[in-house]
Amino acid sequence: MSDTVISTSNQTSEYPVERCDEINLGKPRSGVIRGSFNGILKDAPGCSTAIVNGLSQQLIHQMNLIVPDALVSFDDLNVDLGDAAYAYLQPAAQKALQSAIQDRGVKMVVNSAYRTIAQQLLLYNWGSGCGFSLVAPPGKSNHQSGLAIDIEDYDGWRPYLEAYGWHWLGDIDPPHFDYVGGGRQDIRGTAMLAIQKLWNNNHPNQKIDEDRGYGPQTESALKNSPAMGFEIAPWDEKPRLLKLSRPMMEGSDVTKLQEALNKAGIVVGTDGEFGPATDKAVKEFQRQKGLEPDGIVGPKTRQKLG
Ligand SMILES: [Zn+2]
Repeated sequence: MSDTVISTSNQTSEYPVERCDEINLGKPRSGVIRGSFNGILKDAPGCSTAIVNGLSQQLIHQMNLIVPDALVSFDDLNVDLGDAAYAYLQPAAQKALQSAIQDRGVKMVVNSAYRTIAQQLLLYNWGSGCGFSLVAPPGKSNHQSGLAIDIEDYDGWRPYLEAYGWHWLGDIDPPHFDYVGGGRQDIRGTAMLAIQKLWNNNHPNQKIDEDRGYGPQTESALKNSPAMGFEIAPWDEKPRLLKLSRPMMEGSDVTKLQEALNKAGIVVGTDGEFGPATDKAVKEFQRQKGLEPDGIVGPKTRQKLG
């Protein structure tokens, strides 16, 4: 793996330029898919970051506990998402993306947006073995800003995106755009604090510094973190809205929901993944309880579930 960093002259110059098209082609080898690897990050087989979905969802939720709306979802926009894509951006970038998509009036295919530090660690460790010529270490990728997207049909989208503060990175990395308009925050320290807090909540006797930086302690914690997520999850502290989304929500809170649905007499698998069957079961439950059957598990539905 090369440590060489290519610098650019635009606003994102502090980040190395990874070849996003290479990284987005990373496909699972050996049939490994999301939720199927019950081990720690340093042992995770390549080449698709979808296998770290569980931990990634915990990291995003933890970030939003630290800074409300640090990242917001855009999976409700007119988009198609790649397998390992997380439909999260900073709020200002999400709004700008929404405007561009509305303006053009066609569906956008997004192969990557926000990348969690867990995903970045995997990509970095896999490196050239997965055909990635340059991958930034955790904390140093422009996809960790929450201000970057990789899309298809970049020529077609370019004028629409540029009208709303998005900047095309150019021929060096054609699918990549960065949001350079107003309202941007630096959330990289928040991402580090999220893993530090998650680790400490789960390892009260092996606590690490909550210094918002990526030092040896944090690197070691991340490498030893479970791909499917920690036992003590951030949604134990503050529940998240559960619903059918892309990628599918997974975690202990989904398992608990499925168990509660079964207890209420609605049979559904307890695999901890909020897929179409769980969506259908939630709507059925809501109908039975006189709630609006929107498939969204918020405070009202949760209360009825007991
Ligand atoms: Zn990119």
